[in-house]
Amino acid sequence: MTTLDDRARTGRGSEPAPRTAGPRALVVGAGIAGLAAASSLHRAGWRVTVCERAVARRTGGYFVRLAPEGVEAATRLGVDESLRSRLPANGLITGVDGRGRTTSRVEAGLVDDGEGLALVRGDLEAALWAGLPAAVDVRFATQPRAVSPAHGTVTTEHDGVARTERFDLVVGADGVRSTVRDLVFGPEEDFRHDFDHVVVSAVLPRLPGELVQGDYVVLVEPGRSAHLMAMAGHDPVVFFTYRADLPQARGSAPTTDAVAALRAVYGDFDGLMPEILDLVAHAGTTHADTVGQIHLERWSRGRVVLLGDAAWCPTLYSGHGSALALAGGESLGRHLALVDGAAPDVPVALRAWEAERRPGTDVARTAARRARHFFLPGNRVVAAVRQAALRAASRERVARLLRTVSRARA
Ligand SMILES: Cc1cc2nc3c(=O)[nH]c(=O)nc-3n(C[C@H](O)[C@H](O)[C@H](O)COP(=O)(O)OP(=O)(O)OC[C@H]3O[C@@H](n4cnc5c(N)ncnc54)[C@H](O)[C@@H]3O)c2cc1C
Repeated sequence: MTTLDDRARTGRGSEPAPRTAGPRALVVGAGIAGLAAASSLHRAGWRVTVCERAVARRTGGYFVRLAPEGVEAATRLGVDESLRSRLPANGLITGVDGRGRTTSRVEAGLVDDGEGLALVRGDLEAALWAGLPAAVDVRFATQPRAVSPAHGTVTTEHDGVARTERFDLVVGADGVRSTVRDLVFGPEEDFRHDFDHVVVSAVLPRLPGELVQGDYVVLVEPGRSAHLMAMAGHDPVVFFTYRADLPQARGSAPTTDAVAALRAVYGDFDGLMPEILDLVAHAGTTHADTVGQIHLERWSRGRVVLLGDAAWCPTLYSGHGSALALAGGESLGRHLALVDGAAPDVPVALRAWEAERRPGTDVARTAARRARHFFLPGNRVVAAVRQAALRAASRERVARLLRTVSRARA
């Protein structure tokens, strides 16, 4: 249940007015997918409970470009009002090498179709949280221990106390390392396609060097990159991706000591990097993990469905993970709308929902497999091709062509 402490922590002031009748849904995970699904299922007539493992809202974050599909889903959920792009369309994307030399300069407006939004993850979380109906019961510091897909029986644990309840629907929106997936579908290694890359993100207390708001700097050497965004109304955000098999990465532990791992991998960079690393060491990191996609033949089993990164994680390289999570959650409610006060046939409705969602996620995962080489050139040849492409993109005609191609793919 939402305790007084939870309310103090989360700013959810109003008393929930729980529905007393109707089918019950449990949403596991209060991320982008989970919050979107909770709102949409509530609208569709369900009594919704959200359980989140973290002790409070996860408000921080990293840079997220919300693709148009996500903006449209946010609009349908009525949570788009507060979402504003934090990078100006006329900003500059500057490429820099490990010696600190500028290698390319492209106007952001030339490579971006201008239809998505440049945000931080916290913007999306805050908008969805503000739009969450008061009747949705949110339980923090709570996670599932056992799930029965046939009966919808779930045992959750909060403060060491177990509780077993029955739900008509269980939504596993608990991210790429999903516990619901482990409990119902099997171990992660059966579904994970590793990219052998590491991603680490951080929010910096100030801008390094002479950077000004609107700057987007990409520091790249083969197998290593860092993207720094000087965003409006938010502290600067940076994310690093590097190949896990680099000699410099050997012996470092990014998931347990990300700062030491970054120093080992980027320690020889000149220019802005030494200052960036000091700022990260001061601020700490907001995310550190290896990068991998999730591929499942089916996203539902009985009354249990997986959603967002738990089901189809396309990785950050797709640029569509948030949009797919948001749109997937929003459309779940539409497929499960109550008819005459009763839930539809849940397994049948979940299959119809999956049939609608599959094609878009397949496109995003394929795009990510290609884009990873652009984000992180593996060797000097790919790095040179990437440079040439960026230089070409700074010419208006080529940029127009790139925009047309990327729209056709979306
Ligand atoms: C550095 C970086 C940059 C990115 N850039 C972009 C981008 O530009 N564009 C884009 O579209 N996407 C981007 N993404 C991807 C995008 O952020 C994800 O695809 C999206 O957030 C997935 O949302 P989700 O709700 O499925 O999962 P998550 O955001 O991972 O949320 C899962 C939630 O479940 C909770 N949870 C986990 N386990 C349990 C449990 N056992 N019990 C209860 N709760 C649990 C977690 O605490 C969390 O709150 C980026 C990702 C990263 C890391």
